[in-house]
Amino acid sequence: MQCGHCSADYHPDTKVQHVGIDPGGVWVIESEKCPRCGRINMRLVSGPENPSRQGYMSYVQKTRPFHPKEGASRKPAPPEVAKGLAEDYNEACAVLADSPKSSAALGRRCLQIILREHAKVKPQDLSNEIDEVLASKQLPTYIANDIDAIRHIGNFAAHPIKSTNSGEIVEVEDGEADWTLDTLVQLFDHYFVGPAEAEKKRDALNAKLADAKKPPLKKP
Ligand SMILES: [Zn+2]
Repeated sequence: MQCGHCSADYHPDTKVQHVGIDPGGVWVIESEKCPRCGRINMRLVSGPENPSRQGYMSYVQKTRPFHPKEGASRKPAPPEVAKGLAEDYNEACAVLADSPKSSAALGRRCLQIILREHAKVKPQDLSNEIDEVLASKQLPTYIANDIDAIRHIGNFAAHPIKSTNSGEIVEVEDGEADWTLDTLVQLFDHYFVGPAEAEKKRDALNAKLADAKKPPLKKP
């Protein structure tokens, strides 16, 4: 099990607290204390009562982490990322637990902005934009594969609106919102953080060259 606070993997020694039964079903709170950061992870578990089955599996239908909320352990967008994009990404993380649909829609919108403004693809529908960026071979293979997988995991074929109106709130597939956010983190690194770090290094080197009365490096 992974700690929602510090991402440590820990062996769960889960405390199960039965809250009660109501017309909505059985309500239980599961919790563990993370051995690394010492913080408590809590989930609300619920489901209809099923007297024909015994014990735990008789009610587990839905598990909702509430402390921390799902996605709360995600770091905000790095400071190098353009402001509007960073805001949308941070919001996509904040709403992940309560509305994966909204999170995925915001994530797709971020992806489209990056492809258009930074990968310089021709504005068209998102699926074709992904094709264009893959064909351009400007991305490392692992990022290209992850972008390609967004279409498969999100089942764009069954939801063409994800391509035509990327920011529209539509049905979400299991793991889609998470996957989109993970891919955005890699794209932030590639288009914002990496180049900013490279520029910092060049500036530092150029300052040394200037001290030595040598000409600066050529612009890349
Ligand atoms: Zn922890």
